[in-house]
Amino acid sequence: MNNIAEQLQLAYHNLAQKCAQVSICADKVQLLAVSKTKPVEHIVSAYQAGQRQFAENYPQELAKKAEQLANYPDIGWHFIGPLQSNKTKLVAEHAHWIHSIERLKIAQRLAAQRPATMAKLNVLLQINISAEASKAGINAAQMLPLAEAVSQLPQLELKGLMAIPAPGDGEQAFAAMQQLSKQLQQHYPQATELSMGMSDDWPLALTYGATMIRLGTAIFGARDYQQE
Ligand SMILES: *Cc1c(COP(=O)(O)O)cnc(C)c1O
Repeated sequence: MNNIAEQLQLAYHNLAQKCAQVSICADKVQLLAVSKTKPVEHIVSAYQAGQRQFAENYPQELAKKAEQLANYPDIGWHFIGPLQSNKTKLVAEHAHWIHSIERLKIAQRLAAQRPATMAKLNVLLQINISAEASKAGINAAQMLPLAEAVSQLPQLELKGLMAIPAPGDGEQAFAAMQQLSKQLQQHYPQATELSMGMSDDWPLALTYGATMIRLGTAIFGARDYQQE
């Protein structure tokens, strides 16, 4: 089953079309291929079709795949899942980006564990924009204090924000994220990235200024967690 190349082509085609419509994103938007639970062979298929940025949710899975694909040094690895402190080293040593920072303690560990030989780890703060009780992320009021603390850590580079809105809350949530992103950039002009939008809602995210969309199902098909 190698329709990954076709799915990718279709996704980039749809992205270009949507960008032309809203005429704001054009060359600024990155498509991340979310490869969690998928075998490395599928990542290689996407790579051979031109994809370079990949996203993973589980620290061990990220580390294992990054090691298996070490001979593809131009892959950009994005960690987008929840991170416990006993797993930070895996992310510090393998990721180029982390989208899910919500606690200073985790950021401090990443800063300490990031190898000096690697470029700085790019950091996005995760906002619990739909204010869901059980969901990851900080609330809006915590954004600037956490940004301030993170921006002072060595080996990390504050680059922006990430959110996973609750189903049905997309438009309001994306609009709120756009405002927060503007607020953050007033203090941290380099923190321009806004990671939001998945297979089902990315076109709406784009109209509210998403700069990174995270597509799993649309590229690799449905996930089968049983196989994990
Ligand atoms: C799994 C996941 C995605 C991709 O979801 P799809 O609906 O398959 O596109 C994007 N972002 C995060 C944080 C995820 O966990």
